[in-house]
Amino acid sequence: ESKIVIIGAGHAGGALAAQLREQGHRGPLCVIGDEPYLPYQRPPLSKAVLKGATDTESLILRNAAFYQENDIEVRTGQTVSAIDRNARHVTLAGGESLPYDFLILATGARPRQLAIPGAGLANILTLRGIDDAARLKSALQPGRRLAIVGGGYVGLEVAASARALGMEVTVVEREARLLARVASEPLATFYERIHQQQGVQIIRNANLSHFEGDDHVTAVHLEDDRRLACDVAVVGVGALPRDELARAAGLHCENGVMVDQDARTSDPAIFAIGDLSWRPLPVYGDRMFRLESVPNALEQARQVACAIVGKPRPAAEVPWFWSDQYDIKLQIAGLPFDADRQVVRGAPEQSKFAVYHLRGEQVMAVEAINSPLDFIAGKQFILSQALVCADRLANMAIKAKDAAL
Ligand code: FAD
Repeated sequence: ESKIVIIGAGHAGGALAAQLREQGHRGPLCVIGDEPYLPYQRPPLSKAVLKGATDTESLILRNAAFYQENDIEVRTGQTVSAIDRNARHVTLAGGESLPYDFLILATGARPRQLAIPGAGLANILTLRGIDDAARLKSALQPGRRLAIVGGGYVGLEVAASARALGMEVTVVEREARLLARVASEPLATFYERIHQQQGVQIIRNANLSHFEGDDHVTAVHLEDDRRLACDVAVVGVGALPRDELARAAGLHCENGVMVDQDARTSDPAIFAIGDLSWRPLPVYGDRMFRLESVPNALEQARQVACAIVGKPRPAAEVPWFWSDQYDIKLQIAGLPFDADRQVVRGAPEQSKFAVYHLRGEQVMAVEAINSPLDFIAGKQFILSQALVCADRLANMAIKAKDAAL
């Protein structure tokens, strides 16, 4: 039986270990993670955890007994420092080396840092893991002023959580609108209104010049000389793939580690899954993407498990994502590239609507606000490549799923 080593005990790595056993792999299986925790889910960190509605123990995906019963060795608090592809072993930071027949990279991504003066001051925080969330949570106190740099999902979710805690919140966004990289213009306009109604100040088209403070941050300065006083700053300006090990080992990397439809890298004995991977999407003609989402991590974990045990590749999935802010649930299916028109269905002013992105009569993506039926219908349209009638899609008297031509 082949020996399997997984680097990274996060969502993808944890899911893969379980999948491998479920699919029938019986050989030695070791997961190595540098955090001191068993694999856990990150989405609640910016939501329930910050608000104090969940403790971090409940984030653990599977408990220690599960790994024991399934004979999965999970080494927490240990860092892999090198991969030797010729000898087929990995080296841990302490010097120990572990042999593998198949190696899986699941090292995720790390928050992008700002390279501006003052960025190293205390109380300037990023959010990726449990420890970050604990630091941030203790800094979020009622009445304190929070400056959030970056109006993406993490920034906006932190804004919503901080408002629930009674903080004064300002979001500074470099682009002309919120969610510029990750959602459509109607959605950005909608979220801007919601956040403003909730008392969040939003400043767009704004570049940071520096942070002010002696020891702790006391203000954010913009290039147009505006000064935003704050007690805490959160930087949420995207994440970069942790692909150093892969690059050092000579694996083909682009925006992350390049993989095929089985999540296999340019070395047939090595796979890469989750936020780290640069992967083809069969539903979009194998165009390459780096996706940062739980469904993506789970899909690739299934692909690898099947490839290793020799089962057929699972059916291609439509990428999807969700975000929770206040009482608003966003679900996105697909990616709205190359779309030539948008159809809005429902009522944005009532916080229940969907934006369908069409190319011709084909649905490329749907963004659904408090509207799970639109999410399900849109996802199905994308998967089946059905043609739809835009007028029927916009007509609330007709069910979304009946808009197919
Ligand atoms: P990770 O979960 O980051 O795991 C990678 C692990 O590898 C980490 O523990 C890392 O420390 C470890 N590691 C890295 N290098 C080494 C090394 N050399 N040696 C040992 N260990 C190493 N997705 C959604 O779909 N919906 C959401 O609402 C959502 N909300 C989110 C909110 C926040 C605040 C964050 C941070 C993410 C959110 N995501 C959400 C994204 C989702 O959590 C990620 O897509 C998912 O965690 C990716 O899993 P992964 O295993 O690739 O990476």
